[in-house]
Amino acid sequence: MATVVHDVAAVRAALGDAEAGLVPTMGALHAGHLALIRRAAAENQRTVLSVFVNPTQFFEPLDLARYPRDLDHDVTVAASAGADLVYAPPVEVVYPPGFAVTVDVARLTEAWEGASRPGHFRGVATVVSVLLNSVRPARSYFGEKDFQQLVVVRRLHRDLVLPGEIVGCPTVRDEDGLALSSRNVRLSPEARQTAVAIPRAMFAMQDAAGRGVRSIERLITIGRRALIVPGLDLDYLAVVDAGSLAAVPRLTPGARAIVAATVGGVRLIDNVELGVRR
Ligand code: AMP
Repeated sequence: MATVVHDVAAVRAALGDAEAGLVPTMGALHAGHLALIRRAAAENQRTVLSVFVNPTQFFEPLDLARYPRDLDHDVTVAASAGADLVYAPPVEVVYPPGFAVTVDVARLTEAWEGASRPGHFRGVATVVSVLLNSVRPARSYFGEKDFQQLVVVRRLHRDLVLPGEIVGCPTVRDEDGLALSSRNVRLSPEARQTAVAIPRAMFAMQDAAGRGVRSIERLITIGRRALIVPGLDLDYLAVVDAGSLAAVPRLTPGARAIVAATVGGVRLIDNVELGVRR
């Protein structure tokens, strides 16, 4: 059984001098989170799961209110994946009264998710800074599923010299390809079927790139075609440089296809690597 703690002093007391791996989450754990926990447990002396539904990264108040929460379940499954400690701070521990600091990562946060959800990455960067300084992990684990977030966190970590290293982990998918997300539970059975168009578009673009298609226009057309399904509202589909997140004019090594779409009122994102690394 994992120990559950709610403030920074208790985290520090529980960890002592141990080399810790941190997996920051908003709870509602699924197999994607568990893969991160398993990896952290394999690479560190102690594994800390943080569960904090961060109010400052939600753009829509309704999205925050509806966010699934079940700490008892999270603690049980996290422990079975190898977590020793669950850090579940209340809002006033992360943001004490008078909290006055926000962290802005310039440029990388302007487009894509940043454009659709103003303030989102300010909330992410601020809470990640607080969590990494609270836990002082040797390694922090983030999913490629939220690709822009991973790129933003890497820059934040480098520029503010935050503790430890950042480890990016591959996206875990359902059998039909849909990327696991805590939001998937809000999809109706019909919307869940519609949502499969998203990974299909990603894999169609990846296959085409693998067959040697280099034209971005053609790749986007292939992806768009897979996304033309009733009930799916496309927000963006792009091919971006994995470092700068800028749309690329031609396929470069490590380039990523990124997509966001709303299905049945639920906003979903996905991405795959397209360019072959040399
Ligand atoms: P969240 O609780 O949604 O904020 O996610 C917490 C961490 O888990 C983030 O680093 C996410 O990128 C990662 N994550 C979420 N879904 C997946 C997935 N399907 N595969 C891998 N990592 C994921």
